[in-house]
Amino acid sequence: MRLTKPSAFQAVTDSFHRAADQLGLNDSTRELLSGTYREIRVQVPVRTADNSTRIVYGYRVQHNGARGPYKGGVRYHQDADLDEVRALASLMTWKTALVDVPFGGAKGGVQVDPATLPGAELERLTRRYLSQVSYVIGERRDIMAPDMNTSAQTMAWMMDEYGRKSGHTPAIVTGKPVELGGSHGRAAATGRGTVMILEQVAAHRGWDAAETTVAIQGYGNVGSWAARLAAAEGFRVVAVSDVRGGIYAPGGLDLDAVDTHVRESGSVVGTPGTDFIDNDELLTLDVTVLIPAALGEAIRSDNADQIRARLVLEAANHPVTPAADDILADRGIEVQPDILVNAGGVTVSYFEWTQNLQEFKWTEEQVNEQLRRHMVAAYTAVKERAAAAGNITPRQAAFQIGVERVASAAKLRGYL
Ligand code: GLU
Repeated sequence: MRLTKPSAFQAVTDSFHRAADQLGLNDSTRELLSGTYREIRVQVPVRTADNSTRIVYGYRVQHNGARGPYKGGVRYHQDADLDEVRALASLMTWKTALVDVPFGGAKGGVQVDPATLPGAELERLTRRYLSQVSYVIGERRDIMAPDMNTSAQTMAWMMDEYGRKSGHTPAIVTGKPVELGGSHGRAAATGRGTVMILEQVAAHRGWDAAETTVAIQGYGNVGSWAARLAAAEGFRVVAVSDVRGGIYAPGGLDLDAVDTHVRESGSVVGTPGTDFIDNDELLTLDVTVLIPAALGEAIRSDNADQIRARLVLEAANHPVTPAADDILADRGIEVQPDILVNAGGVTVSYFEWTQNLQEFKWTEEQVNEQLRRHMVAAYTAVKERAAAAGNITPRQAAFQIGVERVASAAKLRGYL
């Protein structure tokens, strides 16, 4: 029984320690893999429109680089503190290992609510953050990407800022606009990977897509693409939400109408022909599949016993706390973990990086075909590991595979 709420990093590290116990890792391996290689915090002074200066803090955490250059996104959020960024960096290490792309794990964050920054300030902040961390990144050292509240435009500013000193270096960031060396299919990749895992589980369980109802918390890049692509595959998407609340249509949402409403009003709430539900109600709907695609810790010990879905697909990073994870497992609800479900983003980031280094462009068909290859291989490895071990969850199997691969690379390099 936990007496105090674990920090985000403690919560994420819980999964690592379970895997380390199951794999019988020794103390030095545990210490090397659970800790971080480098953490930096930088001051980012931003000139505001009224000619005063606002100082925000930015972070870059490089968790582990045994398998390749550090890799991970940068998020702009008022809660993006060092502990949160550290948690997300460690998830990147296990994620890149699980989908077998040759990267380590890193994450960046700027602790700011981007809604409080008008466009020009956001650009100045982005350029200043990038220049403050520029001495620890590099196209073969640490490669940035979008995450929550950052976008292809953010990456374009970062690439441009880096290029002022180092010359044109498109491989310094992934998730760029296609016009500037971004990859076809990168914007949709995390949502597409999520739907590929949904298809795998549905096929395994013998679910008919039209009768499989789906609720998605979050309608940002990941949630909106997951909704669109799931509907395109015939699944019945009945509910979606954003920070203002959710919408529900038991017969299935008209996603064109949702997108039109979002363009006009900035929110899914109020889309004609839908009922309003709040974010808590969305999580507890009687649906087949629940996809949390927003912030971490959406499913906790206080609401885990109300979840009615049969499958939870973690499109967000760490949306289920360790205590909630145990409750869901006891209740027989399958949880496919973040390091598998949302790994499509970093997988296509890898394709983008290789295209940049080769100065060559793949077609969208090539990207999606290779994405499927990585996602299906990772899903299959997790399923087989869980089946062979008997009584372990997909998360435990996924962490075992990721941790084992990173430990092996660290040993081959002579660290252990
Ligand atoms: N931010 C995404 C993630 O959490 C993508 C990272 C990347 O493409 O490097 O996986």
